[in-house]
Amino acid sequence: MQALVKPAPGPELVLRQEPVPEIGAEDVLIRVKKTGICGTDIHIWQWDDWAARTVPTPLITGHEFAGEIVDMGRLVEGLEIGQRVSGEGHLIGKTSRQSRAGKFHLDPATRGIGVNEPGAFADYLRLPAFNVVPLPDAIDDEIGAILDPLGNAVHTALSFDLIGEDVLVTGAGPIGIMAAAVARHVGARHVVITDVNPDRLALAERVADVRAVDVRTTELRDVIHDLGMKQGFDVGLEMSGNQAALDQMVETLTMGGRIALLGIPPGKSPVDWSRIVFKAITLKGVYGREIFETWYKMIAMLENGLDVRGVITHRFPVAEYRAGFEAMLSGSSGKVVLDWT
Ligand code: ZN
Repeated sequence: MQALVKPAPGPELVLRQEPVPEIGAEDVLIRVKKTGICGTDIHIWQWDDWAARTVPTPLITGHEFAGEIVDMGRLVEGLEIGQRVSGEGHLIGKTSRQSRAGKFHLDPATRGIGVNEPGAFADYLRLPAFNVVPLPDAIDDEIGAILDPLGNAVHTALSFDLIGEDVLVTGAGPIGIMAAAVARHVGARHVVITDVNPDRLALAERVADVRAVDVRTTELRDVIHDLGMKQGFDVGLEMSGNQAALDQMVETLTMGGRIALLGIPPGKSPVDWSRIVFKAITLKGVYGREIFETWYKMIAMLENGLDVRGVITHRFPVAEYRAGFEAMLSGSSGKVVLDWT
């Protein structure tokens, strides 16, 4: 089968022939149809310090996928050959306190496909049946291939009650844009998204019914005033990992505001904790997707009118994977989807 592989430490990936994975009694074999390129894959492509520390070589990369079940282990129940599926790319243990409490996304032994284990950028993927998420007809393979990042957005956005709230999203990358769309879908009043990249702000306005603000040229205070908000934002969704963005978020949040953090700062960054204390702000770190509550909610919302297709800006056959990674590296793309059919 063809697969996108990191053959050895160093930049880029190669498309080459690999053996089809063998499955165990509790696994399924999935014929991959579409995959999404993630920021994580860009770190692996560039082979930065994190990738060099984390990723074994050789490794088939990729973790955002949709496809069809073509084989099943003898102990697999409740799934069918030919079924259209996506799946959770975090492989979890079953013995930790968290897993045994049903909080699978908090299992400390989590390993990621395409990061620690063979991934989805391949014609075939082995996945534990436990991780498989069947796709309803209403969700096509292209949307199925971006459920992993949409799940990050949904997990973050649903961290706090957003009904009637004024929401600030910092960072208009694909996940920020999808989080803004989710906030709108679930009934937030005002949704404002900030960035310093005009292409991404324009994309945010096309995809979601939000106010997109370039913080280089516009003061958030003025936006708050324009929108008639009495105090500040009620909820912040930090998707950029940018120190200045978090600082602005804390500054423009109301007393008792809540912040969910998904963006990853590049290193240690100074935080004005006294302001967080005096504003009585609640902070929540967000990792991955709740297994499988986030999946349930996002599929239900997609079936009920949530539309994030506009966040996909580029589509390539896998033979043109270089163009896909270049689009991502340009910094102004939305999601990039590769076709394996
Ligand atoms: Zn991803």
